[in-house]
Amino acid sequence: MLFAGVGPEGQQRLLSSVAVLVGCGAIGAAVANLLVRAGVGRLRILDRDFVETSNLQRQILFDENDAREALPKAVAAERKLRALNSEIAIEGVVADLNSKNIEELLYGFPLILDGTDNFETRFLMNDFAVQSGTPWIYAAAVASYGLSFVIRPGQTACLACLLESEGALGLEQTCDTAGVLGPIVNLIASLETAEALKLLSGNETSLHGRLMSCDVWTGRFQSVHPERNPACRACGRGEYPYLRGQAQPHVTMCGRDSVQIHERGRSLDLPALERRLSLIVPGVRQNGFLLRFQVSPYEMTVFTDGRAIVKGTKDPATARSLYAKYIGS
Ligand SMILES: [Zn+2]
Repeated sequence: MLFAGVGPEGQQRLLSSVAVLVGCGAIGAAVANLLVRAGVGRLRILDRDFVETSNLQRQILFDENDAREALPKAVAAERKLRALNSEIAIEGVVADLNSKNIEELLYGFPLILDGTDNFETRFLMNDFAVQSGTPWIYAAAVASYGLSFVIRPGQTACLACLLESEGALGLEQTCDTAGVLGPIVNLIASLETAEALKLLSGNETSLHGRLMSCDVWTGRFQSVHPERNPACRACGRGEYPYLRGQAQPHVTMCGRDSVQIHERGRSLDLPALERRLSLIVPGVRQNGFLLRFQVSPYEMTVFTDGRAIVKGTKDPATARSLYAKYIGS
């Protein structure tokens, strides 16, 4: 309230504002932390994954207990954020955003925040945002480098303008095997959250409109004003292949020796599955959100929505056959 850019009126608007965060990994967790402490009114957090010890170096909302319990990140984040600020409506949703559920999961939110780790989901969000005229904030980081940009459909360049044009700006669309430093994640999350606070507190005129990129290792910082591409297939021609599910589904999880099976849209009764599997596999565990077991050298984690993450392979065919064998088709 003391900061002139926000003031008491801006803070009041912030308290009644609403946003949805897609992905609660490194950048997502840091954004959620800042937004909830700032007093955003309602925040929905979508995430498809669960907490692992290797996340803790950069994912600031989670701790060793969350990893031990293998809590879904959406659930662990909701618990932490409630303890940070009990006056905020926080809704963690364990789901993998796709072309079938995006309308239901993002509908009605006036701001979409990027906390994802892959371009498949970002292009899906961009298609949805451009078609519905919803602002969204792109943010990504890998190794010591990251960038962020506010996309306002019809006013600024969109993600397809940036990445599908000649002289494309931004991160290469490759899977991350380079790791990511905690400091770059928090820096990019701060840039993203600052722009979100402008939008949510009614200070749109303060948006800088620039694509910010930084490397905390080399010290290179850049700020450019991207132009819209008049021939852009999304914001120019209104073509949304990702919304129609025409793009390839992403099955290999970025930077991990894992494959996600997500084609099966069905709900699983985890206690029943636990009883059945316990007869044939030792050490089956479930926590109400997910069920996990090992069939060496693989580890399978199955969610209530029928999704599974198979660790120990990058081969979708292997993962699918394990799914069929143990969960059923
Ligand atoms: Zn565009």
